[in-house]
Amino acid sequence: MKHGHILSRDLHLPASKPQRHSLDGAPGIGLLAPASRLRMALVRSKSIPSEQKMRMTSTILISILISMMLQSLIAGDALAGEESRPIPPHKLATLDSIESRAPELIELSDRIWSFEEVAFQEKQSSAALADYAEKNGFRVRRGVGEIPTAIIAEYGSGRPIIGILGEFDALPGLSQKAVPHKDPIHPEGAGHGCGHNLFGVASLAAATAIKELLEEGKLKGTVRFYGTPAEEKFFGKLWMIRAGLFKDVDVMMDWHPSTKIEANVQSSLAMVDFIVEFFGQSAHASSDPWNGRSASDALELYTSGINYYREHVKPTVRIHYHIQDAGKVVNVVPDYARLWVRVRDTKRDGMQTVWKRVQEMAGGAAILADVDHKISLVSGIHEVLVNRTGGARLQENIESLGEIHYSDEEQAFARKIQEATKKEQLGIVTKISPLKETEENPSGGSTDAGDVSFNVPTIRLAVTTAPQDTPWHSWAVVAYSGMSIGHKGMIYSAKALAMTMVDLFEDAELRKAVREEFVERLGDYKYSPMIPEGPPPLHQ
Ligand SMILES: [Zn+2]
Repeated sequence: MKHGHILSRDLHLPASKPQRHSLDGAPGIGLLAPASRLRMALVRSKSIPSEQKMRMTSTILISILISMMLQSLIAGDALAGEESRPIPPHKLATLDSIESRAPELIELSDRIWSFEEVAFQEKQSSAALADYAEKNGFRVRRGVGEIPTAIIAEYGSGRPIIGILGEFDALPGLSQKAVPHKDPIHPEGAGHGCGHNLFGVASLAAATAIKELLEEGKLKGTVRFYGTPAEEKFFGKLWMIRAGLFKDVDVMMDWHPSTKIEANVQSSLAMVDFIVEFFGQSAHASSDPWNGRSASDALELYTSGINYYREHVKPTVRIHYHIQDAGKVVNVVPDYARLWVRVRDTKRDGMQTVWKRVQEMAGGAAILADVDHKISLVSGIHEVLVNRTGGARLQENIESLGEIHYSDEEQAFARKIQEATKKEQLGIVTKISPLKETEENPSGGSTDAGDVSFNVPTIRLAVTTAPQDTPWHSWAVVAYSGMSIGHKGMIYSAKALAMTMVDLFEDAELRKAVREEFVERLGDYKYSPMIPEGPPPLHQ
């Protein structure tokens, strides 16, 4: 780890700022401390005889040397036997910018956290980000891609155009206070169980730090923040892509709140969402059931078919369904039933095969129950097209930033949540792992950043905003995202993203190599977004 520089730098930051807990509990080992101790000792020694003075001075010098060696060891450099690589000035400027904005960034993130707005309803969250961008001198376009809450904030002109993705939607039913036990703010409300309040703000913070360098003429080109709604449902980026909003971008940056810090070089799962409806004939459930044709019979047969089918799919496949309507009362044969079905696999080809089969099964269920059926595509997303070249540079930047450090209070908060979620009470550990191999079949979820990665080379980051093995999409993540553990991840992420964006602006060779890898991985695949004709489903 080459994090010596940032550790010593953090020593001089005001106590109120986040990210400086790195040396909590280790006072007096700062870079300035030994020198000032020597000055003070020499001042005090003026009235002491010269031989004694010499002995004292050499004792002090030896103690200073030991202190400096210890400090070096703590910084990790001496252990690793590596030279501490200083962070270049433009990157340092972004770190300073983000540090100085930390209080307002935390306030903005907490505000979005408190709005609890779900997919396509993120009016206040989107406005808060757009207003912040506008106040900071960005040209802001609101309501892009036929989505009222989608925004683009841009600064600068010409190439390169470096983009950054920011999400901000919450999840239904997860309302939660920032406390370490389950306690909703609004019992029926939504909550940031994926940390998207941190996501949007960190990305905009990184873009703002870059904007300042462009403004000062230290970088040349355009920085563009994409505020992308509805990542949790419907996938807003798909309509933004269809509107051609990503066409001219050279490289895109992306991150996600996580339980670890790493340059994310893993793909994700391709998936498709569709609605299955069954239409039958209602009748009295007891007096003339022979006149009825039950839509819910079809639904039950259909889900049974899906559940039998599970035995015969590859282990990488996931099939989910949500029963949305299966009749209203017990004494009426239901003439209508409806499910939301989702099929995933690690590659879109595998997903397509399963998707086709699960659609055919709806037809089979309809025949068995003697009802009609209809299938409607909601949307589908691609797996992520990994970019290891970009990931490797991002990795260098996170290694120079070092790990996140947590206070005793934060560790206690984490242990309480671990107790409440029946996990081992380990607190938070955030080791930065080396750049991993890209797995053929990744685990995890899906993201519409995958579709962006098929249009623009995309470099992705994961940063700890909750401890390892925290149940994701849960009240626990909402709690972490509304307090300092989440905030620290957000500030850290903004820094790592901004540093890598500096590289992308300054290093044409890097941009070229990133693009070459993208072209090679894409091959001759012709991308088009998996969405139906017409406007996005804003009111579903
Ligand atoms: Zn998410």
